[in-house]
Amino acid sequence: MAFVSSWLARAGFCSLALALVACGPPRPGLEPLAGSKGLRVVTTFLPITLFTRAVAGDCAQVTALIAPNAGPHDFQAKPGDLAALRQAKVLVKNGLEVEAFLSKLVVSAENPALITIDSSRGVATLDSAEEAGHHRGHAHDHGAVNPHIWLDPLRAVQQVETIRDGLVKADPSCAEGYKRNAEAYTTQLKALNAEIAGQLKPYRGKSFVAFHDFAPYFAERYGLTANYLVDVPELNPSPADLQRVALEVKKSQLKALLSEPQEGNRSFNALASDLGVTISVFDPMETATEEESRHPLTYVRVMRRNVAELRRAFGE
Ligand SMILES: [Zn+2]
Repeated sequence: MAFVSSWLARAGFCSLALALVACGPPRPGLEPLAGSKGLRVVTTFLPITLFTRAVAGDCAQVTALIAPNAGPHDFQAKPGDLAALRQAKVLVKNGLEVEAFLSKLVVSAENPALITIDSSRGVATLDSAEEAGHHRGHAHDHGAVNPHIWLDPLRAVQQVETIRDGLVKADPSCAEGYKRNAEAYTTQLKALNAEIAGQLKPYRGKSFVAFHDFAPYFAERYGLTANYLVDVPELNPSPADLQRVALEVKKSQLKALLSEPQEGNRSFNALASDLGVTISVFDPMETATEEESRHPLTYVRVMRRNVAELRRAFGE
């Protein structure tokens, strides 16, 4: 029910935003285009912003729709978001329904020339937990498919390549730049994958417990099983959720639960202390600081830190 009312609040906010934009001043953050950055691109949330910035380099001006400190699960539209979408030529999204707010916002922006790049195109997906029947009884805003594909570095490579192809098509004048930038970045992602595979090899077959259901693609890539307390970060766990996690911790002899660097983990932290295990932090990269969101290699740095924390949870 909390979800429904927050959705209604959001929908109300969007129509208010529309009214404000119609008569309000232009968005302050958008300066006139300078130099070679000819293409104006809007992205949705953090990983998509990092991947798009990596490919865009000096060829395009990239603006994130969602402030880096707000995740996709709890996004609320602001008047400036419509202005950004109106002025953009390209919109890049993760896809798989995680950006549930987006289709309405795009319609409101009335920019028929806007090209949308769905970075999930062609990526092999996993059903969300509820669809798979593991975790019934919660209202949530994940679609039928789990959207967290970016946490598998090799699926991230596919996303980067789809973004590259879309930008080349939208702006052939910088085709060589987009291809060169994408090549350099995907080389780093593939090296990262090899590094993680090596580090997690001794733990193949093990399970871990995260706070929300973000880790199945990461787990699948490295031969692990991901468990979680809640489907999406906004939910409060039920007694059955807490019991399920307690059993898993015992069964897998986990030394730690994997928390997130966001608010809303309090019940999880309390559970860890009840179970006598510690808390490690695995950042699903749904949020970051403004500064981190400017550097595409934030992805590599955060994943390295995540793997170190995960090994600690396994008792390293
Ligand atoms: Zn999530």
